[in-house]
Amino acid sequence: MKLLISELARRADEFVALRRDIHQNPELGFNEHRTSELVAQKLATWGYEVERGLGGTGVVGQLRRGDGKARLGIRADMDALPIEEQSGKSYSSGNHGIMHACGHDGHTAMLLAAAKYLAEEGKFCGTLNLIFQPAEEGLGGATRMLDDGLFEKYPCDAVFAAHNAPGLPQGYLAFRTGPTMASSDRVMVTLSGVGGHGAMPHKAIDPIVAGASIVMALQTIVSRNVDPALVAVVTVGMFHGGTACNVIPDSVTMELTVRALDPDVRNTLESRITALIRSQAESFGVKADIDYKRGYAVLVNSPAETDFARGVALDLLGPEKVILHGPPVSGSEDFAFMLEKCPGCYLFIGNGFGEAGSICEVHNPHYDFNDANVAIGSAYWVGLAEKFLSDSPTA
Ligand SMILES: [Zn+2]
Ligand SMILES: [Zn+2]
Repeated sequence: MKLLISELARRADEFVALRRDIHQNPELGFNEHRTSELVAQKLATWGYEVERGLGGTGVVGQLRRGDGKARLGIRADMDALPIEEQSGKSYSSGNHGIMHACGHDGHTAMLLAAAKYLAEEGKFCGTLNLIFQPAEEGLGGATRMLDDGLFEKYPCDAVFAAHNAPGLPQGYLAFRTGPTMASSDRVMVTLSGVGGHGAMPHKAIDPIVAGASIVMALQTIVSRNVDPALVAVVTVGMFHGGTACNVIPDSVTMELTVRALDPDVRNTLESRITALIRSQAESFGVKADIDYKRGYAVLVNSPAETDFARGVALDLLGPEKVILHGPPVSGSEDFAFMLEKCPGCYLFIGNGFGEAGSICEVHNPHYDFNDANVAIGSAYWVGLAEKFLSDSPTA
């Protein structure tokens, strides 16, 4: 399998240029019209059956070969972020205020490079479904594709995806079984009391005091209700109330972000946050309106498919460049919803340390996908597809 890297490296120039073209023309979630058209056209040219418009601007390319029963899904995301690029690269964003600062341009290019090789020279038997997803950045493009029948139209026995990872050496692959990325929930709270004169608090019902007490009480949830060995975050990131020192306001608002790496912990956080706010508010005679919005789920890698994905990496790179059991990541990822429907694995590909040894993180205006990964990432997808869709997948 090691030969695949040199094979894909020989063909990488075309896809490095394509990656830079996508980088120069970034599009926000559900507006990836140019990008998805480019993807769809390429796939069609290479002989894939192509469906456009799945989940808004999503694209699926399907290639069947032989009479194999196995069905594989590989997903890449295509959207950019509302950030003004400052990388100074020759191929910097041409779209004001929009930038590929999360490397999804690279994800798209790696999967396209694999798509072309698999169509022209791939040795596989079965059904290959390449899923190009819109709107990963907070807008839930994965859910839209699932709602549009992604896995009913394109059933998959397993689904895989990768994210580039700054701070991990370039070209290294990292894996983790089980909960790997955090859930992300948002809670909006309005506390309504009775406004009045700041000098006559006994004639008012003060929502600021109630809110302050709630903020402090919320701190006890992680420390008292969650197993210390598990990850949980409750942050009150916004608290607004009042206009003058001598006025007690009618109401205050606050917003929380809530993260967990375990679905049970996530449920505990929701029930405790809700109960605590309600009972605290009641004790102050204040009315609490709570809007608890569940965002992305905990991303859970299934054991068998993660072992399979590790095995492909070991065959391709050897043990020195494969991190078998990496740490969990506190960010969130809507591929979690695909993994709720279908077993699979989300893995990380090292983007290196940036220029001058500094780590430039994703969502930073200087961030750039590492083009050396076009060959490695595409070779990995080819290796994974050929092994998964071989006549004897365990061989
Ligand atoms: Zn991102
Ligand atoms: Zn991303």
